[in-house]
Amino acid sequence: MTTYRPAEEVREGFEIFDDRFRAMLPDNARLVKHFTGTEWAEGPVYVPDGDYLLWSDIPNDRMMRWSEADGATVFRQPCGYTNGHTLDLQGRLVSCEHGGRRISRTEADGTVVTLVDSYQGKRLNSPNDIVVKSDGSIWFTDPPYGILSDREGHKAESEIGANYVFRLEPDSGDLEIVGDDFDRPNGLCFSPDESLMYISDTGEPGHIRVFDVADGRRLTNSRVFAVVRPGKPDGFRCDVNGNIFTSAWDGIQVYSPQGELLGKILVPEQRTANCCFGGPDKHRLYIAADHSMYSIVLNAQGGQTP
Ligand code: MG
Repeated sequence: MTTYRPAEEVREGFEIFDDRFRAMLPDNARLVKHFTGTEWAEGPVYVPDGDYLLWSDIPNDRMMRWSEADGATVFRQPCGYTNGHTLDLQGRLVSCEHGGRRISRTEADGTVVTLVDSYQGKRLNSPNDIVVKSDGSIWFTDPPYGILSDREGHKAESEIGANYVFRLEPDSGDLEIVGDDFDRPNGLCFSPDESLMYISDTGEPGHIRVFDVADGRRLTNSRVFAVVRPGKPDGFRCDVNGNIFTSAWDGIQVYSPQGELLGKILVPEQRTANCCFGGPDKHRLYIAADHSMYSIVLNAQGGQTP
């Protein structure tokens, strides 16, 4: 197993830098481990219709499912080395596939269809993370992690030759570049009112930038929101108040809408990759971290739609 941090730094607990984070922690706040046994947990998505969580175990080319009733089971294997997932406005699963180098959608009958796999005739690199806007458009990042080696997909050359952020209209298939100045774009999410878009860069910068969303479909006015350490900010979500809950190597770090670090939920794994809000009222933050999947109930409510 690769060691990214010394053992004494891998621990559980909270670091509270601001009363706004303290207020998010119930009196009995406790990180719960639901499953351990993945090689590299990523891409959690909560499915309200059925009250369960899906997430990716990328190197094992499988998707996992967890519910209070059923515990953890394998949902799909092989799965095209999926990474990030979300739901569309109809509640269908929409997935980034490193192996298939595509965005796929799982239909109500379980069949998996391709929404997009190329841009101007060139194959995508390896879609990483994904979000659906309230107008139905699908926004995703396309860094090269799935084609750098055979561990997270299939080693290959980039055909596009760049790492873009894309916006897809699923009905027309119209795909356009909305971000072209990233080293390795990764996580992304809208603010609750969709006036802002946050996108992380897990390449050289290791930060999250925030953009204004112009005309509902263009990104303008780029500025650095937060530089996240240790590690890099991989995946993140916002709550209804616009606070950002981002992964870092040490766990989940919580930032105010102004970019102030309010506190940390330390996760006892080498690297935490991603998180999502779930549960009937979206008060439970599910956390995908290396070998395990955790959750914690917070006095915070997920702001993502659906
Ligand atoms: Mg990611």
